[in-house]
Amino acid sequence: MKVCYPGTFDPITKGHIDIIERASRMFDEVVVLIMHNPAKNCLFSEEERTQFIRDSIADLPHAEKIQVMVGSGLTVEYAASIGASAIIRGIRAVSDYEYELMQATANMYLNDRVETLLLIARPQYSFLSSSVVKEIGMNHGDISELVPEQILERVAEKLRSR
Ligand code: ADP
Repeated sequence: MKVCYPGTFDPITKGHIDIIERASRMFDEVVVLIMHNPAKNCLFSEEERTQFIRDSIADLPHAEKIQVMVGSGLTVEYAASIGASAIIRGIRAVSDYEYELMQATANMYLNDRVETLLLIARPQYSFLSSSVVKEIGMNHGDISELVPEQILERVAEKLRSR
C-alpha cells in the first residue's frame, strides 16, 4: 500500500521524522509531500525543505520506501493522482484533532477512496512543531534535540540570521 504524508515541513522536525519512520514500517511506499501553499509564509524555500527531508530520511531503516515530492492543489486529489490509498497525518493534541477531523471529513467529501490515517505523536515530540523550532532558533536557543542532526547546522544558521 502506498500512502502520502503531506505537510509544510518548514522545516522538518524530529516529530515529522518519527511519523515518517512509523509509516514506513507499516506501508510499502511513503511519499512525503510538501504541499505548495502560497497562503503560508514559509521561511525555507521548497528546494531547501525538499533537501532537508531527503538528507534527514537517508539513514532511516526503510529509506528505500520513502520518496519526497512537492505537490499543489487539493491534497486529496494530488494523493489520488500519485496512487496513494491514504493520507497520513500526525496528532499532538486535541486541538490538532479538531483541525484534522475537519480536513479529513472535507477530503472524504472530495474523494472517498483516499482514507485519512491519524498517528499519535510520541510523547517526547508532542510539543514539537516547525513553529516552535523557528521561535527557539531565531532567539538563539538550542534546537539540537528538535531537528534531525543532518540538517541542524543549516537550519540553525538560517534561524540565527533572522
Ligand atoms: P501542515 O501545515 O499541513 O499542518 P506541518 O508540516 O506543520 O504541515 O505538519 C504536517 C503533519 O505533521 C500534520 O499532520 C501535523 O499535525 C503533523 N506533525 C507536526 N509535528 C508533529 C509532531 N511533533 N509529532 C507528530 N506529528 C506532527
